[in-house]
Amino acid sequence: MNTEEVENRIKELREIINRNNKAYYLLDSPEISDYEYDELYRELKRLEEAHPELVTKDSPTQKVGDNTAQGFKEYKHKYRLYSLDNSNNYEDLKKWYERTKKEYPNESELEMVTELKIDGLSCALSYENGELKVGATRGNGIIGENITQNIKGIKSIPQKLTKPINIEVRGEVYMPVSSFEKLNEENREKNQKEFANPRNAAAGSLRQLDEKITAQRDLHFFAYTAIPEDKNLIKTHYEGLNLLKELGFEVNPNYSLARGVNEIIEKCNYWENERFNLNYATDGMVIKINNLNKQNELGYTSRAPKWATAFKFPPEEVWTKLEDIEISVGKTGAVTPIAILTPVQLAGTTVKRASLHNFEEIERLGINIGNEVLIKKAAEIIPKVIRKREEENYGIYKAPEICPSCGSKLIKPEGEVALYCPNALYCPAQIKGRIIYWASKEAMDIDGIGESIVEKLYNAGLIKDFADLYKLTIDDFMKIDLVKEKSAENLYKSVQNSKTPSMTKFLTALSIKLIGKETAELIANEYPSIEDIESAAEEDLIKIDGIGDKAAKSIIDYFRNDYNVNILNKLKLNGVNPKGSAYERTSNVLEGKTFVITGTLSEPRSVFEGIIKRAGGKLSSSVSKKTSYVLAGENPGSKFDKASDLGVIILTEQEFNLLVEGKINE
Ligand code: NAD
Repeated sequence: MNTEEVENRIKELREIINRNNKAYYLLDSPEISDYEYDELYRELKRLEEAHPELVTKDSPTQKVGDNTAQGFKEYKHKYRLYSLDNSNNYEDLKKWYERTKKEYPNESELEMVTELKIDGLSCALSYENGELKVGATRGNGIIGENITQNIKGIKSIPQKLTKPINIEVRGEVYMPVSSFEKLNEENREKNQKEFANPRNAAAGSLRQLDEKITAQRDLHFFAYTAIPEDKNLIKTHYEGLNLLKELGFEVNPNYSLARGVNEIIEKCNYWENERFNLNYATDGMVIKINNLNKQNELGYTSRAPKWATAFKFPPEEVWTKLEDIEISVGKTGAVTPIAILTPVQLAGTTVKRASLHNFEEIERLGINIGNEVLIKKAAEIIPKVIRKREEENYGIYKAPEICPSCGSKLIKPEGEVALYCPNALYCPAQIKGRIIYWASKEAMDIDGIGESIVEKLYNAGLIKDFADLYKLTIDDFMKIDLVKEKSAENLYKSVQNSKTPSMTKFLTALSIKLIGKETAELIANEYPSIEDIESAAEEDLIKIDGIGDKAAKSIIDYFRNDYNVNILNKLKLNGVNPKGSAYERTSNVLEGKTFVITGTLSEPRSVFEGIIKRAGGKLSSSVSKKTSYVLAGENPGSKFDKASDLGVIILTEQEFNLLVEGKINE
């Protein structure tokens, strides 16, 4: 590029970036993905670095993205707020580390803290004598918006601290992913605008001129910086995080100390995959020098601290072409469209398929084969399609009328969005789906029996349902393509070894509509044998906490259907015998007590769930008046508040242990 071309490109990039800043910060409605934005931003930064004479003070690279809008009072920050420089690859992260190491060559002095970068909206809270005085947005870092009234509606922000000190606290206001999805669903029903992602939902909800609307939204706050007036209170960032917890703030628990760049990279790597299991959005990691004196020594650029950097995770959203739509018929007959995509890199994996859920979703998205679509990696393994390019119009893909597997006319049960093939008993796709599911990890976990083996066994006429698997001989397995003696033996053994599953596994594996693993477990805990379930009345099933009318009816229908009864009989004849309750009772101390667990405990939740069930207690996912106890670990969620409101007894882990040991009663 010659100088004129560089000048033009810089001008163009600044215009695009400023336009997108407005859509993102002011309207909470971005038009491009963060990844695309970051690419444009990096290009501008590179050009400016190569041509320092073209850098101007008003370039977006020289200032902090501003979100101050009309309507809120301005607030002059006591201490300036900054953005963060970031890299999206380990090479650049290493360069940042090397630059920092130049200042502190002795690596033992270069202790870092790594934290998750929460994708929300940063806020500064000012406390005097322990009382919340002001809450403000970052704005341009010097002047923010005074949103004190709105902040007061966020439960995880204490109005009064546990100590009467003067302190400024910074952190991120965010909306849990589940609440964001619920809010969008409600907005969709009301024909109102949907938010692009949890960050925009949080920002849009917090910066409401009517604070009552903010209070209705499920907003939370993770505190990440403590600036106490008394500088002697903390010497390191780590101590600051501990102080924040002591003062009553929620601090994201996923922070730790790190020495050396390899340890930092290891942590980034870990969270790059693990982030999809979190119920809040995180777009990267923040790496900060721990020692506050060193932070002060290094100082700031006009936009960001030199003592910290962010590592941005690979994009969670990316554009690609919708090449085809595959229609799959599942084990319950639900007909699901699947997007077949031009392969594309997304969050570290190559994606070729994405979920489209159902045909109403296709209509809502207004998509057809040929469209460019934005796909997103969410908590599920298979990514989903978010939207199409606005300007493109290929019409809308038409839903099929007949089942692609058996030719039956598809139906749409009242109140459901999915189309179904009604031929539950004889549709090959449904039968194969049920056999594959029966053998799957989630169900009976039969090693080696997957989609392709099931397909071959079925097509060869060797099995008609999953009960037939148990009458197969080694010779039968050898009749199918590419299966040699040794693997036939192994397949035979794994089938035979699965004859005494737990009741939960067995019930899950039957593919009863609406009965997944969790519900199956609730039933298994109540009914020790299949005969008991067969003779249960609908009213009895509904009494089980966690089982609704529809699930109860589905169980009753299943056990009254001749086809299913025949399969159950065949299973029995073939020697498949589920073992009683998933949790063998060891005591009755918790008999009749219902527990809800919240927060982080010293061991995984499943450990505590096991203890409760073995002692005769029950578990529920939500707090109600019927809840006997809430077991609360560190950083408990809204269940804790609800329990306090309802007067439900809240137990610490220690108290819980005493209760189980029978050392305390109530
Ligand atoms: P940033 O989001 O990249 O990083 C700084 C912010 O990180 C801080 O202000 C703070 O709010 C937040 N943060 C979260 N967890 C933190 C922690 N543990 N410690 C410290 N800070 C933490 O910077 P920014 O200036 O707020 O925004 C720029 C970014 O916003 C861009 O990189 C881009 O991803 C996005 N953006 C997107 C568009 C778009 O159109 N899609 C437009 C503008 C900006």
